[in-house]
Amino acid sequence: MSSAYDVDLFVIGGGSGGVRAARIASGYGAKVMLAEEYRVGGTCVIRGCVPKKLMVYAGRFADEFEDAAGFGWTVENARFDWSVLKQRRDAEVTRLEGIYDTNLIRAGVEIVPERAVIEDPHTIRLLGSNRTVRAERILIAVGAHPVKEPAVPGIELAITSNQVFELETLPERILVIGGGYIAVEFAGVFAALGSRTTLLHRGDRLLRGFDDEVRDALAEAYGRRMDLRLGRTLARIDRRDGGLCARLDDGAEIFCDQVLVATGRRPNVAGLGLHKVGIETDSIGAIPVDAYSQTPVPSIYAVGDVTNRANLTPVAIREGHAFADTVYGGKPSCVDHRLIPTAVFSTPEIGIVGHTEAAAREIYGKIDVYKSRFRPMKATLSGREERILMKVLVDCATDRVVGVHIFGHDAGEVIQAVGIAVTMGATKADFDRTIAVHPTAAEELVTMRVPEVTKHPVGVG
Ligand code: NDP
Repeated sequence: MSSAYDVDLFVIGGGSGGVRAARIASGYGAKVMLAEEYRVGGTCVIRGCVPKKLMVYAGRFADEFEDAAGFGWTVENARFDWSVLKQRRDAEVTRLEGIYDTNLIRAGVEIVPERAVIEDPHTIRLLGSNRTVRAERILIAVGAHPVKEPAVPGIELAITSNQVFELETLPERILVIGGGYIAVEFAGVFAALGSRTTLLHRGDRLLRGFDDEVRDALAEAYGRRMDLRLGRTLARIDRRDGGLCARLDDGAEIFCDQVLVATGRRPNVAGLGLHKVGIETDSIGAIPVDAYSQTPVPSIYAVGDVTNRANLTPVAIREGHAFADTVYGGKPSCVDHRLIPTAVFSTPEIGIVGHTEAAAREIYGKIDVYKSRFRPMKATLSGREERILMKVLVDCATDRVVGVHIFGHDAGEVIQAVGIAVTMGATKADFDRTIAVHPTAAEELVTMRVPEVTKHPVGVG
C-alpha cells in the first residue's frame, strides 16, 4: 500500500461475502477496514438462512409428533409457543453475530459500524462520522433487499421476509405470495407451526427453474398442507374486521392476519455512489463484474447478491474468498457458477445439483433418466401420505451424471454429499459400484438400474 491510502482494502457490507473477503485478505497481510451499517453477519445470519432454518426445525416437530403415534408413542398436550422460539432464535442470532465480530477482529480487520458510500474510485465516505477513508481497493458486498411487489393497492400492509423475524405472535392466518425459495420455505414453516396458510403464486407451478417433476411433487405435498392457489395474482389488500383481506384477480377474498410478500430481491445499490465512479447497474440494480469479481472500475470489486450471479450464501462466501486469493494471495481464482448444489427447506425438502431434465435434454440430446418415487420406510408405520422422489440424469454419450434431484426428508443433507461426486464428474457406473447404505432412502441413488422406472421399495433386504 502506498502512503496515499489509509487502507489496502475497504469492504462495504458485513455479510457472508464481505466478511470472508475481509478475513482472508487480512490473513494475507492486507490492511482491511469493513463497514456494516446494521449487524455483522448480513442477511444469512441475521434475517435469512440461519433464523429461517431454526424456524424450519421448529415446524418439523409437528410432523414428528403426528408420526410418533404409529410407533407407539402418545404425545399429549404438545403445544407451540412462538415467543419461546423467537426469544431463543434471536439469542442464537446474537451469539453468531458476536462470533462474526470476534473473528473479524481476531483476523485484524477494523470494523466501522456506519454506512459507507463511494466518493471516487479510492475514497469512501462514512456517513455516521462524516469522515473519508482512502483505500487502494474497494469491495462492494452490500447484498440485496426484499421487494414489496406486485405494486397493487394496499401492498404496504404486507410484510417481507425481514419482518417475519420481528413478528411478536404467530399469525393465525397468513397469506404468502410468491413461488420462489422464500415463499415456499416460509409457507411451509407457517403451515407446520399451525397458521392457516395460503400460498399464492402467479405461475402454474412453484419454483421456476427447478425440475418439473420436483415442482409437481412439491405442489402435491403442499396441497395437502395448505391452501395452494396457483395461476392467480393479487389484486389488492384492505384492512377488514381487525385483520387483512386480500382480493385476488379472480375475485376471491382471503382473510388473514398477515400477508407475506416473497416476490424477489433487489441489490442494495441505492445511494451507494456508483454514479460517481461511472458504474452502471443492470435493470434490477446488479453491479456488473468479470469472472474475478472486478467491476469496470479497476479498483472496485463486488461479490454476493449485489452482483446477482447466484444469490446463495455459499456462493457469496466463495466469491469473497476467490477475490482475496486473487488480489492478495497471488492465487488467481474464480468461482465456477455452473454446478451449484442447493436445497430448498420446504417440508419435505428439495435438494438438487446439476441440470433439470428439460435442460439436460437440450444440452446433451440423449439422456437416461433414472427415477424412483417411493414411500419412505418411516411412513409405513407413521401412515404419512408422502412420497420421496429421486431422479438421476445421465448423459448417454459419456455416462456422466449431469443432474440429481431429490424431493424428500433430508434432501439437503444428501445432496451435499452427492454434489461432491457430481462435481468430480462421477459416471452412472461410479454410482452403480457404490455400495448402498441400507436401509436408507438415499440408497435409491445407487440402486436404480433401469432408466425411467417407478418403484415402491420399503427397505427390503
Ligand atoms: P425468487 O426470485 O426465487 O422468487 C420470486 C418469486 O416471486 C417467483 O416465484 C416469481 O414468480 C414471483 N414474483 C416475482 N415478481 C412478482 C410479482 N410482481 N407478482 C407476483 N409474483 C412475483 O425470490 P425469493 O424472494 O424467493 O428468493 C430470493 C433469492 O434468495 C433466491 O434467488 C435464492 O437464491 C435466495 N434464497 C435461497 C434460499 C436457499 O438456498 N434455501 C432460501 C431463501 C432465499 P415467477 O417464477 O413467475 O417469476
